[in-house]
Amino acid sequence: MSGLSLTDLHKSFGPTQALRGISFDVAEGEIVAVLGPSGCGKSTLLGIIAGLEEPDAGAIFWDDRNLAGVPPHKRGFGLMFQDYALFPHKNVRENVAFGPQMAGWNEAAIRQRVEEALILVGLPDYGERDVASLSGGEQQRVALARSLAPRPRLLMLDEPLGSLDRTLRDRLLVELREILQRTGQTALYVTHDQEEAFSLADRVVVMNQGQVAQIGTPQAVYRQPANPFVARFLGLNNIFQGEVHAGQIRSPIGDFPAPKDAVGTITFLIRPDTVRLDGSGSAQLKGLVLARTFRGGFCRLEIEIASHSLVFDLPSTGIDLPQPGANILLDYDPRDTIQLL
Ligand code: ADP
Repeated sequence: MSGLSLTDLHKSFGPTQALRGISFDVAEGEIVAVLGPSGCGKSTLLGIIAGLEEPDAGAIFWDDRNLAGVPPHKRGFGLMFQDYALFPHKNVRENVAFGPQMAGWNEAAIRQRVEEALILVGLPDYGERDVASLSGGEQQRVALARSLAPRPRLLMLDEPLGSLDRTLRDRLLVELREILQRTGQTALYVTHDQEEAFSLADRVVVMNQGQVAQIGTPQAVYRQPANPFVARFLGLNNIFQGEVHAGQIRSPIGDFPAPKDAVGTITFLIRPDTVRLDGSGSAQLKGLVLARTFRGGFCRLEIEIASHSLVFDLPSTGIDLPQPGANILLDYDPRDTIQLL
């Protein structure tokens, strides 16, 4: 295939197994986010792909060529880190020109590419500016221009927006996706932030303790988390075990129709946004409201059902939601039950 291919990568540091068999592909032109909590092995993976670290086992291919033994600067990969500081004593143009210069481009090609890269990131007239005079957001854009300038065949971004405030981060994410897509840039984006991963990536690789927990489009991963780890990482905590008998799940929170093809003991998730109060569901969940929090577009209700605490999100407009202490009957469509592995 064309693009990046990782097969069964392993890496340990003493007794710590940082990577335990990582395999996935990034197609040419694709944006893939590696998403997982701190310590799951994301940075180790990037370091190995970049060639800064050797894997203990497994291989990295680009366009079917094994990169074992190829030094970092010969891989044609670019890196952008959160604290990948700009050179403080060089101006914007000199910072952006750095990569093409190192790659031995001629002067005219460098000048043209720096101009293009600055237009791309929306800073066309910033070439002569001192980097110390730039805002945080502008500095990140210059850092992006610098990473893109040498035309890396793969751009790897390690939490590049981590130090920025939420509003600026959201805006830059939209811009970043647009720039990467417009230039057909193959990219691997590492983050612990699900919103960042979901809004940026074509596909998301969720990692847990050095292994791949799930791979899919953001929509698929959110709609159908594969296992309890992914569900909990996405903030979906209504997870229970039940026994399936004759198409019914018997569970600690009640009995209701089982998902298709479910047999034996299963673990299942009830998504917080799949209940209603309009009498329309083919099943009901009966409980006691423990807490109610206004969250803008929705209200989050914590509800006790048979001594278990569940969380549901209901629209905050148009209906009167019960107060803590009140009983509640939630309408639920059993087809929304998600079976986890
Ligand atoms: P993440 O980037 O997801 O936070 P890392 O790849 O940094 O995760 O770390 C994965 C695991 O490997 C952690 O337990 C970390 O402590 C360990 N680790 C990473 N680098 C080293 C190292 N150079 N020496 C020892 N342990 C390391």
